[in-house]
Amino acid sequence: MGIGRSVLLAMSKSAFLNDQALNRTFVKRAVKKFMPGEAPEDALGAAQVLGKAGRGTVFTKLGENLTRLDEADAVRDHYLKFYDMIKARGIDGHVSVKPTQLGLDLSPETCAQHVHVLAAKAAESGSILWIDMEDSSYVDRTLALYEGVKKAYPNCGLAIQAYLLRTPQDVERLMAVQPIIRLVKGAYAEPASIAFPVKADTDRAYYEVSVTMLQHAAKGNCFPIFGTHDIPLVDRIVAAAKEIGVADGKYEIHMLYGIRDADQARLVRDGRTVKTLISYGSSWYKWYMRRLAERPANVWFVVRSMLPG
Ligand SMILES: Cc1cc2nc3c(=O)[nH]c(=O)nc-3n(C[C@H](O)[C@H](O)[C@H](O)COP(=O)(O)OP(=O)(O)OC[C@H]3O[C@@H](n4cnc5c(N)ncnc54)[C@H](O)[C@@H]3O)c2cc1C
Repeated sequence: MGIGRSVLLAMSKSAFLNDQALNRTFVKRAVKKFMPGEAPEDALGAAQVLGKAGRGTVFTKLGENLTRLDEADAVRDHYLKFYDMIKARGIDGHVSVKPTQLGLDLSPETCAQHVHVLAAKAAESGSILWIDMEDSSYVDRTLALYEGVKKAYPNCGLAIQAYLLRTPQDVERLMAVQPIIRLVKGAYAEPASIAFPVKADTDRAYYEVSVTMLQHAAKGNCFPIFGTHDIPLVDRIVAAAKEIGVADGKYEIHMLYGIRDADQARLVRDGRTVKTLISYGSSWYKWYMRRLAERPANVWFVVRSMLPG
């Protein structure tokens, strides 16, 4: 298979391919591997099934880089209702938003207002508001956004990407607000001047930052979440947590719906706290291309779903 990560990430930015993919039944069939359905009810239904198996859920409505501010208002309103839907069904569920989905490109002030409104709603619902990290051009603005909202609402978490060279400094800086951090490897195409070009370096950095977060957690400064499907890495982190003295329940492991499902179930059986991130909505193209890029062998799922039967 000659198609690689950088080609797939470049394809994720094509408006033409976006329109083509959304209209192709075989692509929709392949996308099903990673999301239960486009409707909010599909996501909630899947979360209820996971809940019975001891897994919590983080929900995200797909969509990013909006072009009109009223679209950001609609996203805010959607999530306000969605928190009520989570609560009404008794689901252990959080919500994760992208700053550009709440208008960061168009008005940082409006985006911050929306984030504060959603954080207040999450607090009222006994839930958490997560902020995803997008490409490197947004990192400074997203850190500032998070620091602002975390001071007002403790129940907010932020994704941080291990592939960025700056991340160890960012993590230290965030300790001032006693952060909830979801550490991920990073899903975007970034230049070698700011991100590790070799995956093994990202993997090593991920472990090192994990240990730093656990050390802060042992002092009560940080609530660490490990967002990865890298099972050997998760096993090392669990061992490090034991050694450092961070109990189960004082950190969590989050994975995406449809990936490493048997391992997610096994981790729950072993006493770990696991949440599954479920995506829904119709704007899945960019997000789906990033999933293909994480494992280019996934392109075979698309090819296979083009075949009859
Ligand atoms: C809960 C959660 C939230 C995230 N939020 C963000 C975010 O805010 N910003 C951001 O940049 N990135 C985010 N990501 C994506 C992340 O950055 C990685 O791109 C993604 O998790 C793949 O890296 P990995 O840690 O699983 O490790 P890898 O080393 O890439 O993968 C480890 C193993 O997991 C399996 N696997 C991984 N990805 C796939 C896939 N797509 N399909 C099938 N199998 C796969 C494979 O078996 C692979 O060998 C998030 C990921 C998770 C789990």
